[in-house]
Amino acid sequence: MIGEGERHSRETAAALIKARIGHWAAVMGLGYGRVFVKSQRTLWGSCSARGNLNFNWRLAFAPRQVLDYVVIHELAHLRELNHSKRFWAMVEKYCPDFRAPPTPTLPHKGGGRTARRRAAGGITSGRVL
Ligand SMILES: [Zn+2]
Repeated sequence: MIGEGERHSRETAAALIKARIGHWAAVMGLGYGRVFVKSQRTLWGSCSARGNLNFNWRLAFAPRQVLDYVVIHELAHLRELNHSKRFWAMVEKYCPDFRAPPTPTLPHKGGGRTARRRAAGGITSGRVL
């Protein structure tokens, strides 16, 4: 059962995440479908073939650069639904430090590439699809 306090913090988290999506979608010149902010144990974010975006609400409590990285990563999938060179070039354009290690463990697996991001918000590791 979700208590009043948790419901409030989740709504606040969703609002923050959606604000960053709006910001980066405008910067990247992309339109997107529906946004779902969910509770997921090991997944930070994903993008469906229909252009819907899923984010873990705990991202709101991660360092801003991690939140922005995941948002940029998923938005880039709206144009490239794969982890091709073109995809990574787009991520790098908007998030130049995405491979720099701000330390521990948000391993990102995709297309054979692994990047480590700082974990926060109670998740010590998670995937970005
Ligand atoms: Zn991906």
